[in-house]
Amino acid sequence: MAKEIPVLPFKRFLKFDELTDFVSTLAAARPDLVTLTSIGASREGRAIHLLTITDAATGKPEDKPAYLIHGNIHALELSGTHAALYTARQLVVDHDKSDLLKRVVFYIVPRINPDGAEFAVTTSGSIRSRTDRSEREANTLYQEDVNGDGLILTMRQEHPDGSLVTDPKDPRLLIRRKRDSAGPFYRTLPEGLIHDWDGTDNIRVEGRSFDWNRNWSYDWRPEPEQGGAGDFPFSEPEMRSMAEFIHSHANIFGILGYHTGPGAVLRPPSTGSDTDLSEEDVRVMDELAQIGSEYTGLPIYPVVKYHSADRRDINLRGHFHNFGYHHLGLFVFEFELGILKNSAGIETEEILAAKKPEEEEEEMRRLMKWWDEQEERDEIYKPWTPFEHPQLGKVEIGGLLNRHLAGRTLPDLEEISKGTYQFTVEHASRHPRIILEDVQVDAVGGDVYRIRARTANRGHFPTNVSNQGRSLRKLRAVQVEFHPACCVNLLSNQGHYHIGHMNGLTDSRLLEWFVSAPPGKQKLCEIRVFGGTGGNVSVYVTK
Ligand SMILES: [Zn+2]
Repeated sequence: MAKEIPVLPFKRFLKFDELTDFVSTLAAARPDLVTLTSIGASREGRAIHLLTITDAATGKPEDKPAYLIHGNIHALELSGTHAALYTARQLVVDHDKSDLLKRVVFYIVPRINPDGAEFAVTTSGSIRSRTDRSEREANTLYQEDVNGDGLILTMRQEHPDGSLVTDPKDPRLLIRRKRDSAGPFYRTLPEGLIHDWDGTDNIRVEGRSFDWNRNWSYDWRPEPEQGGAGDFPFSEPEMRSMAEFIHSHANIFGILGYHTGPGAVLRPPSTGSDTDLSEEDVRVMDELAQIGSEYTGLPIYPVVKYHSADRRDINLRGHFHNFGYHHLGLFVFEFELGILKNSAGIETEEILAAKKPEEEEEEMRRLMKWWDEQEERDEIYKPWTPFEHPQLGKVEIGGLLNRHLAGRTLPDLEEISKGTYQFTVEHASRHPRIILEDVQVDAVGGDVYRIRARTANRGHFPTNVSNQGRSLRKLRAVQVEFHPACCVNLLSNQGHYHIGHMNGLTDSRLLEWFVSAPPGKQKLCEIRVFGGTGGNVSVYVTK
């Protein structure tokens, strides 16, 4: 009996076991379409799940053009997992009314960072990609649930130098201390314990020192030039697994990553400016990004421009976008799915606008007011509660929950995920498509036969995908192999053909071979075409 396709509830973020359960159930429900494997294991030994989604009846995954989706590289950006799973499920649901899975394979890695995500989803603690506890340093605070309520929140402590005071307009919030502020004055630290503390105010906080979206290979720079870089490109096992997966799959023609900053469609470049890229490539990227924007309502930014308006353009070294464009030659995108402020009706342009500190404070009050008005709502605030800290003494623990501030509300995320799915379908529909057509055999006389066939790219993108892809050796050019059957002799002076890259839609090459075959022999040859991003085809030719 066929199993039901599992429902993906947009109710709360998923723990690792729940994620595993969902992907296993999806694969079990439609084994003809979905295969669950992993690209490797995390540092703490969790599987980095990989869903391979294609119609098995129409060919092997490795012979089809491939679209890769990844999510949740950043620990707190749990909505990326949900959006990736939404797409996985919807591809399966829509299969009866679409040809896409007949032609394309989707590789979906819903959670690149299962360890960081588990930390975020179970504690609400704040790390960028991974903790750096393996090499604990003196005077460094490591996040921990010290009061045993199951959460990692914020500790506030009265201190003469404290830069924060209680907001008189919303006492749940802390605002910047001003000239005329009345005390008490607070300093804040994440909930946790200080390793090897010397008792001074010199306390460093862990958890920001690895950013896996600075660990890709293109233009990687070490610390301190690029914060979060890691020790060398792909030094993190999870990222290395991604790199090995990508480099061993010549069929990948497009990649989409999911993140959770203020809602946006992001495109390359992540350093420099558009003028560093082929003009034609920028035009195509903008056209695709525009489709993403129309389906989601999110504004488009090149990564270098995605920052608050009072800052200079950013240069992110070792970033996914430059890796995808410069090292792979592909059109790559990221969706920033949006933060809680977006759900509260504060648009990304407004979130990123240049603001005075008072305006920032007003924005937080607006968020809290909106939250108070919601009927169904997640807990985003815990009251400040006195606690006797074993090292710091009297503190209060409470404040806002990072895991919820860092994402949209889940019902809101479901709407955005519908849009990003539509974008994915549009982008993926433009795949290159290498075929072999008009295969023809003519008896020339005696034992001699002429074989003709046309190899063509009938997909939208060229096999080099972008102009950048044409100059790279990464993207495999089209090659034709001619394998005569037993007792058949090739008479032409060329069997195999190096075709090179092929343009989209109207590019074809007529190929011709002469062979001699003994009477009674039916099978003449096998023609195999290796089309890189356009997929592979193979045909047996008989008399
Ligand atoms: Zn991110």
